[in-house]
Amino acid sequence: MKKYQSYTLQNYGQIPQSVSLSREDRQAIEVVGRVLPFKTNNYVTEELIQWDQIEDDPIFTLNFPRRKMLLPQHYKEVEALMTNGNDQQLRTAIEKIRMELNPNPSGQEYNIPEFNGIRLHGLQHKYRETVLLFPRPGQTCHAYCTFCFRWPQFSNLPDMKFSIKEDYELYIKYIKAHPKVTDILFTGGDPMFMNASLLRAHIEPLLSPALKQIRHIRIGTKVLAYWPYRFTTDEDADEVLRLFDNIIRAGKHLSIMAHFNHPIELSTSAVKEAIQRIRNTGAQIRTQSPVLRHINDQPELWAEMWRRQVGLGCIPYYMFVARDTGAKHYFEIPLAQSQTIFRKAYQKVSGICRTVRGPSMSDHAGKIQILGISEVAGEKLFVLRFIQGRNPDWVAKPFFAKYNPAATWFDQLEPAFGEKEFFFEHELSNYLRDALERDLGAY
Ligand SMILES: *Cc1c(COP(=O)(O)O)cnc(C)c1O
Ligand code: SF4
Repeated sequence: MKKYQSYTLQNYGQIPQSVSLSREDRQAIEVVGRVLPFKTNNYVTEELIQWDQIEDDPIFTLNFPRRKMLLPQHYKEVEALMTNGNDQQLRTAIEKIRMELNPNPSGQEYNIPEFNGIRLHGLQHKYRETVLLFPRPGQTCHAYCTFCFRWPQFSNLPDMKFSIKEDYELYIKYIKAHPKVTDILFTGGDPMFMNASLLRAHIEPLLSPALKQIRHIRIGTKVLAYWPYRFTTDEDADEVLRLFDNIIRAGKHLSIMAHFNHPIELSTSAVKEAIQRIRNTGAQIRTQSPVLRHINDQPELWAEMWRRQVGLGCIPYYMFVARDTGAKHYFEIPLAQSQTIFRKAYQKVSGICRTVRGPSMSDHAGKIQILGISEVAGEKLFVLRFIQGRNPDWVAKPFFAKYNPAATWFDQLEPAFGEKEFFFEHELSNYLRDALERDLGAY
Protein backbone atom coordinates (compact mmCIF):
# COMPACT_ATOMS: atom_id res chain seq x y z
CA MET A 1 0.00 0.00 0.00
CA LYS A 2 1.34 3.40 -1.00
CA LYS A 3 0.79 6.31 1.34
CA TYR A 4 0.03 9.61 -0.36
CA GLN A 5 2.81 12.13 0.02
CA SER A 6 2.45 15.49 -1.65
CA TYR A 7 5.34 17.75 -2.55
CA THR A 8 5.07 21.51 -2.86
CA LEU A 9 7.39 24.50 -2.89
CA GLN A 10 8.04 23.86 0.81
CA ASN A 11 9.25 20.26 0.66
CA TYR A 12 10.12 19.27 -2.90
CA GLY A 13 13.75 18.99 -1.77
CA GLN A 14 12.69 15.78 0.00
CA ILE A 15 11.84 14.05 -3.28
CA PRO A 16 14.66 11.48 -3.43
CA GLN A 17 15.10 11.98 -7.19
CA SER A 18 15.32 15.74 -6.80
CA VAL A 19 19.09 15.36 -6.48
CA SER A 20 19.06 15.33 -10.28
CA LEU A 21 17.67 18.89 -10.40
CA SER A 22 20.21 21.48 -11.47
CA ARG A 23 20.61 24.83 -9.75
CA GLU A 24 18.72 26.41 -12.70
CA ASP A 25 15.89 23.87 -12.39
CA ARG A 26 15.50 24.72 -8.71
CA GLN A 27 15.58 28.44 -9.35
CA ALA A 28 12.83 28.03 -11.96
CA ILE A 29 10.70 26.02 -9.52
CA GLU A 30 11.17 28.65 -6.81
CA VAL A 31 10.32 31.61 -9.07
CA VAL A 32 7.51 30.19 -11.22
CA GLY A 33 6.11 28.17 -8.31
CA ARG A 34 5.37 31.41 -6.49
CA VAL A 35 3.04 32.58 -9.25
CA LEU A 36 1.47 29.34 -10.50
CA PRO A 37 0.42 26.60 -8.09
CA PHE A 38 2.92 23.76 -7.73
CA LYS A 39 2.16 20.37 -6.27
CA THR A 40 3.19 16.84 -7.17
CA ASN A 41 3.18 13.53 -5.31
CA ASN A 42 5.08 10.30 -4.76
CA TYR A 43 3.17 8.33 -7.42
CA VAL A 44 4.01 10.90 -10.07
CA THR A 45 7.64 11.22 -8.99
CA GLU A 46 8.23 7.47 -8.51
CA GLU A 47 6.21 5.88 -11.27
CA LEU A 48 5.59 8.43 -14.02
CA ILE A 49 8.50 10.86 -14.32
CA GLN A 50 11.62 9.56 -16.01
CA TRP A 51 14.27 11.42 -14.09
CA ASP A 52 17.10 10.66 -16.48
CA GLN A 53 15.42 12.81 -19.14
CA ILE A 54 13.83 15.65 -17.19
CA GLU A 55 14.98 18.28 -19.72
CA ASP A 56 12.03 17.17 -21.82
CA ASP A 57 10.16 14.59 -19.82
CA PRO A 58 6.43 15.21 -20.47
CA ILE A 59 5.31 14.31 -16.95
CA PHE A 60 7.98 16.47 -15.34
CA THR A 61 6.71 19.32 -17.53
CA LEU A 62 3.16 18.45 -16.51
CA ASN A 63 3.88 19.03 -12.79
CA PHE A 64 7.07 21.00 -12.34
CA PRO A 65 7.38 24.71 -13.01
CA ARG A 66 9.85 25.52 -15.77
CA ARG A 67 11.41 28.90 -16.38
CA LYS A 68 9.62 29.52 -19.66
CA MET A 69 6.19 29.01 -18.14
CA LEU A 70 6.37 32.67 -17.11
CA LEU A 71 6.91 35.43 -19.65
CA PRO A 72 10.50 36.74 -19.40
CA GLN A 73 9.47 40.09 -17.88
CA HIS A 74 7.32 38.37 -15.22
CA TYR A 75 10.08 35.91 -14.41
CA LYS A 76 12.66 38.67 -14.00
CA GLU A 77 10.34 40.75 -11.85
CA VAL A 78 9.63 37.93 -9.39
CA GLU A 79 13.23 36.75 -9.36
CA ALA A 80 14.51 40.26 -8.61
CA LEU A 81 11.98 40.81 -5.81
CA MET A 82 12.88 37.47 -4.25
CA THR A 83 16.40 38.75 -3.72
CA ASN A 84 15.90 42.52 -3.31
CA GLY A 85 12.29 43.05 -2.31
CA ASN A 86 10.34 42.69 0.90
CA ASP A 87 7.43 40.26 1.35
CA GLN A 88 4.82 42.90 0.64
CA GLN A 89 6.42 43.96 -2.64
CA LEU A 90 6.73 40.35 -3.71
CA ARG A 91 3.12 39.59 -2.85
CA THR A 92 1.86 42.66 -4.71
CA ALA A 93 3.88 41.78 -7.81
CA ILE A 94 2.62 38.18 -7.75
CA GLU A 95 -1.01 39.35 -7.43
CA LYS A 96 -0.56 41.70 -10.35
CA ILE A 97 1.05 39.05 -12.55
CA ARG A 98 -1.69 36.54 -11.72
CA MET A 99 -4.33 39.03 -12.77
CA GLU A 100 -2.47 39.44 -16.08
CA LEU A 101 -2.70 35.69 -16.65
CA ASN A 102 -6.44 35.77 -17.32
CA PRO A 103 -7.46 33.79 -14.25
CA ASN A 104 -11.02 33.01 -15.34
CA PRO A 105 -11.07 32.32 -19.06
CA SER A 106 -14.11 31.93 -21.30
CA GLY A 107 -16.54 33.93 -19.23
CA GLN A 108 -17.16 31.19 -16.67
CA GLU A 109 -18.56 33.79 -14.31
CA TYR A 110 -21.55 34.09 -16.68
CA ASN A 111 -22.46 30.50 -15.93
CA ILE A 112 -23.11 31.03 -12.23
CA PRO A 113 -26.85 31.27 -11.69
CA GLU A 114 -28.82 33.16 -9.13
CA PHE A 115 -31.55 31.22 -7.39
CA ASN A 116 -34.13 32.67 -5.00
CA GLY A 117 -31.95 35.77 -4.82
CA ILE A 118 -28.80 33.82 -3.92
CA ARG A 119 -25.78 33.32 -6.16
CA LEU A 120 -24.79 29.64 -6.25
CA HIS A 121 -21.02 29.94 -6.25
CA GLY A 122 -20.41 26.22 -6.68
CA LEU A 123 -22.60 25.65 -9.73
CA GLN A 124 -22.20 26.42 -13.41
CA HIS A 125 -25.12 25.97 -15.75
CA LYS A 126 -24.14 26.81 -19.30
CA TYR A 127 -25.73 24.02 -21.36
CA ARG A 128 -29.38 23.14 -20.88
CA GLU A 129 -28.92 19.47 -19.91
CA THR A 130 -25.85 19.70 -17.73
CA VAL A 131 -25.09 21.27 -14.39
CA LEU A 132 -21.53 21.43 -13.06
CA LEU A 133 -21.07 21.18 -9.30
CA PHE A 134 -17.90 22.24 -7.49
CA PRO A 135 -17.89 20.53 -4.06
CA ARG A 136 -15.85 22.62 -1.66
CA PRO A 137 -13.56 19.82 -0.37
CA GLY A 138 -12.85 18.83 -3.98
CA GLN A 139 -11.24 22.12 -4.94
CA THR A 140 -7.73 20.72 -4.93
CA CYS A 141 -5.97 17.93 -6.82
CA HIS A 142 -3.50 15.16 -6.01
CA ALA A 143 -0.99 17.09 -8.12
CA TYR A 144 -1.30 20.30 -10.13
CA CYS A 145 -0.99 20.47 -13.89
CA THR A 146 1.24 23.30 -14.98
CA PHE A 147 -1.24 24.17 -17.74
CA CYS A 148 -4.27 24.06 -15.43
CA PHE A 149 -7.12 26.34 -16.50
CA ARG A 150 -8.64 26.16 -13.04
CA TRP A 151 -5.50 27.32 -11.26
CA PRO A 152 -7.25 30.19 -9.42
CA GLN A 153 -9.08 27.44 -7.52
CA PHE A 154 -5.77 26.77 -5.77
CA SER A 155 -4.24 30.22 -5.71
CA ASN A 156 -5.86 32.06 -2.87
CA LEU A 157 -7.90 34.25 -5.20
CA PRO A 158 -11.15 33.88 -3.24
CA ASP A 159 -13.25 36.04 -5.56
CA MET A 160 -12.41 33.78 -8.47
CA LYS A 161 -13.09 30.52 -6.79
CA PHE A 162 -16.03 28.34 -7.73
CA SER A 163 -17.06 26.30 -4.73
CA ILE A 164 -20.21 25.21 -2.90
CA LYS A 165 -20.36 27.63 0.02
CA GLU A 166 -24.11 27.81 0.30
CA ASP A 167 -26.47 25.20 1.76
CA TYR A 168 -26.37 22.10 -0.49
CA GLU A 169 -30.16 21.80 -0.21
CA LEU A 170 -30.39 24.97 -2.32
CA TYR A 171 -28.41 23.29 -5.08
CA ILE A 172 -30.76 20.34 -5.07
CA LYS A 173 -33.69 22.74 -5.25
CA TYR A 174 -32.08 24.52 -8.17
CA ILE A 175 -31.81 21.23 -10.05
CA LYS A 176 -35.44 20.33 -9.29
CA ALA A 177 -36.48 23.73 -10.56
CA HIS A 178 -34.76 22.95 -13.87
CA PRO A 179 -36.38 19.71 -15.03
CA LYS A 180 -34.45 19.72 -18.34
CA VAL A 181 -31.24 19.04 -16.43
CA THR A 182 -30.40 15.36 -16.95
CA ASP A 183 -26.69 15.46 -16.22
CA ILE A 184 -24.72 16.38 -13.13
CA LEU A 185 -20.99 16.77 -13.58
CA PHE A 186 -18.90 16.98 -10.43
CA THR A 187 -15.78 18.93 -11.14
CA GLY A 188 -13.03 20.92 -9.47
CA GLY A 189 -10.16 20.76 -8.75
CA ASP A 190 -10.70 17.07 -8.42
CA PRO A 191 -13.86 15.75 -6.74
CA MET A 192 -12.04 12.44 -6.21
CA PHE A 193 -9.87 14.23 -3.68
CA MET A 194 -12.85 13.90 -1.34
CA ASN A 195 -13.11 10.92 0.96
CA ALA A 196 -15.89 8.40 0.47
CA SER A 197 -18.28 9.96 2.98
CA LEU A 198 -17.94 13.46 1.52
CA LEU A 199 -18.50 12.03 -1.95
CA ARG A 200 -21.56 10.21 -0.70
CA ALA A 201 -22.94 13.35 0.92
CA HIS A 202 -22.73 15.14 -2.41
CA ILE A 203 -23.99 12.32 -4.62
CA GLU A 204 -26.69 10.54 -2.62
CA PRO A 205 -29.20 13.41 -2.63
CA LEU A 206 -29.19 13.11 -6.43
CA LEU A 207 -30.33 9.49 -6.25
CA SER A 208 -33.62 10.25 -4.57
CA PRO A 209 -36.82 9.33 -6.45
CA ALA A 210 -37.71 13.02 -6.46
CA LEU A 211 -34.85 13.55 -8.91
CA LYS A 212 -35.83 11.05 -11.61
CA GLN A 213 -34.86 13.67 -14.17
CA ILE A 214 -31.17 12.97 -13.46
CA ARG A 215 -30.02 10.27 -15.86
CA HIS A 216 -26.26 10.68 -15.90
CA ILE A 217 -23.82 11.43 -13.15
CA ARG A 218 -20.30 12.30 -14.17
CA ILE A 219 -17.21 12.83 -12.10
CA GLY A 220 -14.47 14.83 -13.81
CA THR A 221 -11.17 13.68 -12.37
CA LYS A 222 -7.47 13.29 -12.94
CA VAL A 223 -7.10 10.84 -10.07
CA LEU A 224 -6.51 7.82 -12.35
CA ALA A 225 -3.43 9.57 -13.68
CA TYR A 226 -2.29 11.19 -10.42
CA TRP A 227 -3.30 8.73 -7.67
CA PRO A 228 -4.86 5.48 -8.96
CA TYR A 229 -4.58 4.01 -5.44
CA ARG A 230 -7.78 5.96 -4.78
CA PHE A 231 -9.54 2.89 -6.22
CA THR A 232 -7.21 0.13 -5.07
CA THR A 233 -5.36 0.40 -1.75
CA ASP A 234 -6.54 3.69 -0.19
CA GLU A 235 -8.33 3.07 3.06
CA ASP A 236 -11.76 3.93 1.67
CA ALA A 237 -11.19 2.59 -1.88
CA ASP A 238 -13.80 -0.15 -1.46
CA GLU A 239 -16.27 2.31 0.01
CA VAL A 240 -15.86 4.55 -3.05
CA LEU A 241 -16.54 1.62 -5.34
CA ARG A 242 -19.62 0.66 -3.29
CA LEU A 243 -20.87 4.20 -3.76
CA PHE A 244 -20.43 3.75 -7.53
CA ASP A 245 -22.43 0.50 -7.27
CA ASN A 246 -25.19 2.35 -5.46
CA ILE A 247 -25.37 5.05 -8.11
CA ILE A 248 -25.77 2.42 -10.80
CA ARG A 249 -28.26 0.45 -8.74
CA ALA A 250 -30.31 3.62 -8.40
CA GLY A 251 -30.66 3.47 -12.17
CA LYS A 252 -28.22 6.24 -13.07
CA HIS A 253 -25.49 6.12 -15.65
CA LEU A 254 -22.16 6.84 -14.01
CA SER A 255 -19.29 8.13 -16.09
CA ILE A 256 -15.83 8.89 -14.80
CA MET A 257 -14.56 11.69 -17.04
CA ALA A 258 -10.90 10.80 -16.76
CA HIS A 259 -8.26 13.31 -17.58
CA PHE A 260 -5.20 11.69 -19.25
CA ASN A 261 -2.56 13.77 -21.00
CA HIS A 262 -0.02 11.17 -22.06
CA PRO A 263 0.12 7.41 -22.78
CA ILE A 264 2.62 6.92 -19.93
CA GLU A 265 -0.20 7.67 -17.51
CA LEU A 266 -1.91 4.50 -18.76
CA SER A 267 1.10 2.26 -18.35
CA THR A 268 1.42 1.44 -14.64
CA SER A 269 -0.08 -1.63 -13.01
CA ALA A 270 -1.78 0.68 -10.48
CA VAL A 271 -3.76 2.56 -13.13
CA LYS A 272 -4.70 -0.63 -14.93
CA GLU A 273 -6.02 -2.18 -11.75
CA ALA A 274 -7.90 1.00 -10.83
CA ILE A 275 -9.60 1.11 -14.23
CA GLN A 276 -10.54 -2.55 -13.92
CA ARG A 277 -12.07 -2.03 -10.49
CA ILE A 278 -14.11 0.96 -11.67
CA ARG A 279 -15.29 -0.93 -14.74
CA ASN A 280 -16.39 -3.82 -12.51
CA THR A 281 -18.94 -1.53 -10.88
CA GLY A 282 -20.59 -0.92 -14.26
CA ALA A 283 -19.36 2.67 -14.45
CA GLN A 284 -18.00 3.91 -17.78
CA ILE A 285 -14.74 5.78 -18.09
CA ARG A 286 -14.56 8.49 -20.73
CA THR A 287 -11.28 10.26 -21.40
CA GLN A 288 -10.27 13.78 -22.27
CA SER A 289 -7.24 16.05 -22.50
CA PRO A 290 -6.11 19.27 -24.03
CA VAL A 291 -3.49 19.15 -26.77
CA LEU A 292 -0.34 20.74 -25.35
CA ARG A 293 3.04 21.72 -26.70
CA HIS A 294 5.87 20.02 -24.78
CA ILE A 295 3.51 17.29 -23.56
CA ASN A 296 1.44 15.65 -26.27
CA ASP A 297 1.77 17.57 -29.56
CA GLN A 298 2.45 14.42 -31.61
CA PRO A 299 -0.29 12.52 -33.49
CA GLU A 300 1.29 9.18 -32.57
CA LEU A 301 1.00 9.97 -28.85
CA TRP A 302 -2.71 10.61 -29.22
CA ALA A 303 -3.26 7.53 -31.35
CA GLU A 304 -1.43 5.46 -28.75
CA MET A 305 -3.39 7.08 -25.92
CA TRP A 306 -6.71 6.25 -27.57
CA ARG A 307 -5.64 2.67 -28.36
CA ARG A 308 -4.49 2.04 -24.80
CA GLN A 309 -7.63 3.62 -23.38
CA VAL A 310 -9.88 1.45 -25.51
CA GLY A 311 -7.76 -1.59 -24.66
CA LEU A 312 -8.39 -0.90 -20.98
CA GLY A 313 -12.11 -0.38 -21.49
CA CYS A 314 -12.25 3.44 -21.60
CA ILE A 315 -14.05 5.54 -24.20
CA PRO A 316 -12.08 8.40 -25.84
CA TYR A 317 -14.27 11.50 -25.53
CA TYR A 318 -12.64 14.91 -26.09
CA MET A 319 -9.46 16.53 -27.35
CA PHE A 320 -9.50 20.12 -26.11
CA VAL A 321 -7.62 23.24 -27.11
CA ALA A 322 -5.79 24.63 -24.05
CA ARG A 323 -7.55 27.69 -22.67
CA ASP A 324 -6.12 31.14 -22.67
CA THR A 325 -4.89 31.34 -19.09
CA GLY A 326 -1.85 30.80 -16.88
CA ALA A 327 1.15 29.49 -18.80
CA LYS A 328 -0.79 29.35 -22.07
CA HIS A 329 2.06 30.88 -24.11
CA TYR A 330 4.20 27.87 -23.17
CA PHE A 331 1.68 25.20 -24.08
CA GLU A 332 -0.30 26.74 -26.91
CA ILE A 333 -0.48 25.36 -30.43
CA PRO A 334 -2.06 27.10 -33.42
CA LEU A 335 -5.57 25.81 -34.10
CA ALA A 336 -4.47 24.69 -37.55
CA GLN A 337 -1.77 22.51 -36.03
CA SER A 338 -4.10 21.12 -33.36
CA GLN A 339 -6.50 20.12 -36.11
CA THR A 340 -3.66 18.43 -38.00
CA ILE A 341 -2.62 16.50 -34.88
CA PHE A 342 -6.21 15.41 -34.36
CA ARG A 343 -6.70 14.38 -37.98
CA LYS A 344 -3.45 12.44 -38.22
CA ALA A 345 -4.09 10.65 -34.94
CA TYR A 346 -7.70 9.88 -35.92
CA GLN A 347 -6.54 8.46 -39.23
CA LYS A 348 -4.20 6.05 -37.45
CA VAL A 349 -6.80 4.33 -35.29
CA SER A 350 -9.75 2.07 -35.96
CA GLY A 351 -13.36 3.12 -35.68
CA ILE A 352 -13.51 1.81 -32.11
CA CYS A 353 -11.27 4.72 -31.02
CA ARG A 354 -13.10 7.33 -33.11
CA THR A 355 -15.62 8.14 -30.43
CA VAL A 356 -13.32 11.07 -29.68
CA ARG A 357 -14.23 14.59 -30.80
CA GLY A 358 -11.97 17.55 -31.19
CA PRO A 359 -10.08 19.69 -31.19
CA SER A 360 -12.64 21.66 -29.23
CA MET A 361 -12.52 25.13 -27.69
CA SER A 362 -14.70 25.92 -24.69
CA ASP A 363 -15.50 29.53 -25.45
CA HIS A 364 -18.20 31.94 -24.19
CA ALA A 365 -20.64 30.63 -26.75
CA GLY A 366 -20.00 26.92 -26.36
CA LYS A 367 -17.73 24.07 -27.30
CA ILE A 368 -16.51 24.87 -30.80
CA GLN A 369 -14.92 22.06 -32.77
CA ILE A 370 -12.47 22.68 -35.60
CA LEU A 371 -13.80 20.16 -38.08
CA GLY A 372 -11.20 20.85 -40.71
CA ILE A 373 -9.42 23.25 -43.01
CA SER A 374 -10.95 23.66 -46.44
CA GLU A 375 -11.31 25.96 -49.41
CA VAL A 376 -14.56 27.35 -50.78
CA ALA A 377 -14.75 29.64 -53.81
CA GLY A 378 -11.02 30.36 -53.59
CA GLU A 379 -11.10 31.26 -49.88
CA LYS A 380 -9.16 29.13 -47.41
CA LEU A 381 -11.12 28.60 -44.24
CA PHE A 382 -11.71 26.72 -41.03
CA VAL A 383 -14.83 24.59 -40.93
CA LEU A 384 -16.26 24.79 -37.41
CA ARG A 385 -19.26 23.56 -35.51
CA PHE A 386 -20.68 23.69 -32.03
CA ILE A 387 -20.50 20.47 -30.03
CA GLN A 388 -22.32 22.34 -27.26
CA GLY A 389 -23.92 25.76 -27.35
CA ARG A 390 -25.42 28.22 -24.89
CA ASN A 391 -28.32 27.93 -27.26
CA PRO A 392 -28.80 24.25 -28.21
CA ASP A 393 -30.05 25.36 -31.64
CA TRP A 394 -26.50 26.35 -32.56
CA VAL A 395 -25.22 22.79 -32.22
CA ALA A 396 -24.06 20.68 -35.17
CA LYS A 397 -24.40 23.33 -37.89
CA PRO A 398 -21.15 23.79 -39.81
CA PHE A 399 -19.95 27.41 -40.05
CA PHE A 400 -16.85 29.02 -41.42
CA ALA A 401 -14.00 31.25 -40.30
CA LYS A 402 -11.27 32.81 -42.40
CA TYR A 403 -8.17 30.62 -42.25
CA ASN A 404 -5.59 32.05 -39.90
CA PRO A 405 -2.49 29.90 -39.44
CA ALA A 406 -1.38 31.71 -36.27
CA ALA A 407 -4.70 31.79 -34.38
CA THR A 408 -4.68 29.84 -31.12
CA TRP A 409 -8.21 30.64 -29.93
CA PHE A 410 -11.63 31.41 -31.34
CA ASP A 411 -11.46 35.13 -30.50
CA GLN A 412 -8.65 35.46 -33.05
CA LEU A 413 -10.87 34.19 -35.86
CA GLU A 414 -13.04 36.22 -38.23
CA PRO A 415 -16.06 35.06 -40.17
CA ALA A 416 -15.35 33.86 -43.71
CA PHE A 417 -16.83 35.34 -46.91
CA GLY A 418 -16.54 38.90 -45.63
CA GLU A 419 -19.42 38.51 -43.17
CA LYS A 420 -19.49 40.92 -40.23
CA GLU A 421 -20.15 38.45 -37.49
CA PHE A 422 -20.63 34.75 -36.81
CA PHE A 423 -24.23 33.54 -37.00
CA PHE A 424 -24.62 33.29 -33.22
CA GLU A 425 -22.87 36.46 -32.09
CA HIS A 426 -25.83 38.74 -31.83
CA GLU A 427 -27.74 36.25 -29.75
CA LEU A 428 -24.68 35.56 -27.60
CA SER A 429 -24.25 39.21 -26.72
CA ASN A 430 -27.88 39.28 -25.60
CA TYR A 431 -27.25 36.28 -23.37
CA LEU A 432 -24.22 37.86 -21.81
CA ARG A 433 -25.98 41.19 -21.34
CA ASP A 434 -28.89 39.45 -19.61
CA ALA A 435 -26.44 37.62 -17.37
CA LEU A 436 -24.80 40.91 -16.44
CA GLU A 437 -28.12 42.56 -15.67
CA ARG A 438 -29.05 39.62 -13.51
CA ASP A 439 -25.81 40.12 -11.61
CA LEU A 440 -26.32 43.83 -11.14
CA GLY A 441 -29.74 43.03 -9.76
CA ALA A 442 -28.10 40.82 -7.15
CA TYR A 443 -26.01 43.56 -5.59
C1 LIG B 1 -17.98 20.45 -21.48
C2 LIG B 1 -18.96 21.05 -20.62
C3 LIG B 1 -20.12 20.36 -20.27
C4 LIG B 1 -20.41 18.95 -20.78
O1 LIG B 1 -20.69 18.92 -22.14
P1 LIG B 1 -20.96 17.53 -22.88
O2 LIG B 1 -20.96 17.86 -24.34
O3 LIG B 1 -22.26 17.01 -22.40
O4 LIG B 1 -19.81 16.63 -22.50
C5 LIG B 1 -21.03 20.99 -19.48
N1 LIG B 1 -20.83 22.25 -19.01
C6 LIG B 1 -19.73 22.95 -19.33
C7 LIG B 1 -19.58 24.36 -18.82
C8 LIG B 1 -18.75 22.39 -20.15
O5 LIG B 1 -17.66 23.08 -20.45
S1 SF4 C 1 -6.25 17.87 -12.60
FE1 SF4 C 1 -7.51 19.43 -13.64
S2 SF4 C 1 -8.06 20.92 -12.05
FE2 SF4 C 1 -6.37 19.65 -11.24
S3 SF4 C 1 -4.53 20.78 -11.74
FE3 SF4 C 1 -4.87 19.37 -13.45
S4 SF4 C 1 -6.07 20.55 -14.95
FE4 SF4 C 1 -6.16 21.61 -12.98
